[in-house]
Amino acid sequence: MTKDPVVFDNPRAMRAHAADLRRQGLRIGFVPTMGALHQGHLSLLDYTREHCDHLVVSIFVNPLQFDREDDLSGYPRTWEADLAACAGHGAETIYAPTPAVMYPEGYQTKVSVTELTRGLCGAGRPGHFDGVATVVLKLFNTVSPHLAVFGRKDYQQLRMIQRMVIDLDLPVEVKGRPIVREPDGLAMSSRNTHLSPQEREQALCLYRALTRAESLVRQGRRDVAALKQAAQDEVAAVAPARLEYLEVVDQHSLEPLAVLHRPAVMALAVWLGQTRLIDNMELNP
Ligand code: AMP
Repeated sequence: MTKDPVVFDNPRAMRAHAADLRRQGLRIGFVPTMGALHQGHLSLLDYTREHCDHLVVSIFVNPLQFDREDDLSGYPRTWEADLAACAGHGAETIYAPTPAVMYPEGYQTKVSVTELTRGLCGAGRPGHFDGVATVVLKLFNTVSPHLAVFGRKDYQQLRMIQRMVIDLDLPVEVKGRPIVREPDGLAMSSRNTHLSPQEREQALCLYRALTRAESLVRQGRRDVAALKQAAQDEVAAVAPARLEYLEVVDQHSLEPLAVLHRPAVMALAVWLGQTRLIDNMELNP
């Protein structure tokens, strides 16, 4: 039997609830999401549930992190299904504030993690990571989790949040979890629902690019230019796919590497029609 989670829609009520949980000595685990939950999200809920006493999931489509109005207005919203999924995966509390409550009249504060957000997705999405850092800090302040769990699907986001937590002395442990993929390799994403059947097929070029590079690394290749070329060829083989970026960077600093002499990650963003997809794979020489 699953129990319905309790839902809070404003920071004051959520904070009071979290304070109460802490007074009871419970370890609070937190998974921030924008809803439209899929198996990728649910893997985070399951992991967090196992490592805490009380699971809080936030569902908030954060306008501050969208750089395109059509992306925000078209973002999938599946509230009823999300609630059921959260209940089924052990969430006791849902925090679902409205934009008006998060950013009321007069709101003007932003958090910026500077170096880590310059390249990769940061280069093509101005303001995106400031929006993410800001909302995550606000959510941490309200939910006051002991543990917060993020997917490595958004690799740059994870590294940025880990940096922010260190830089701002936030009393929360941040964990990154593996990417959950469809059986054919496509990384699960709420935006996959925007793909036409044809684009869904074409979207496999991201995974093909990453696995091609990975297999070259396993064969001993270390020159990044060659790895990138092989991966780019996989994307180029799909005519409608438009590559926004493809980089091989250090796993922690996210600085571009010329030679694979330490743990790296290959990350890419590809457009299929109006849909932008990202994916990445760690390359460990
Ligand atoms: P979002 O709802 O897109 O903001 O994502 C919420 C959290 O789920 C983030 O930490 C994402 O990195 C994570 N996430 C999204 N897709 C996946 C996936 N396919 N595998 C693992 N985690 C994911």
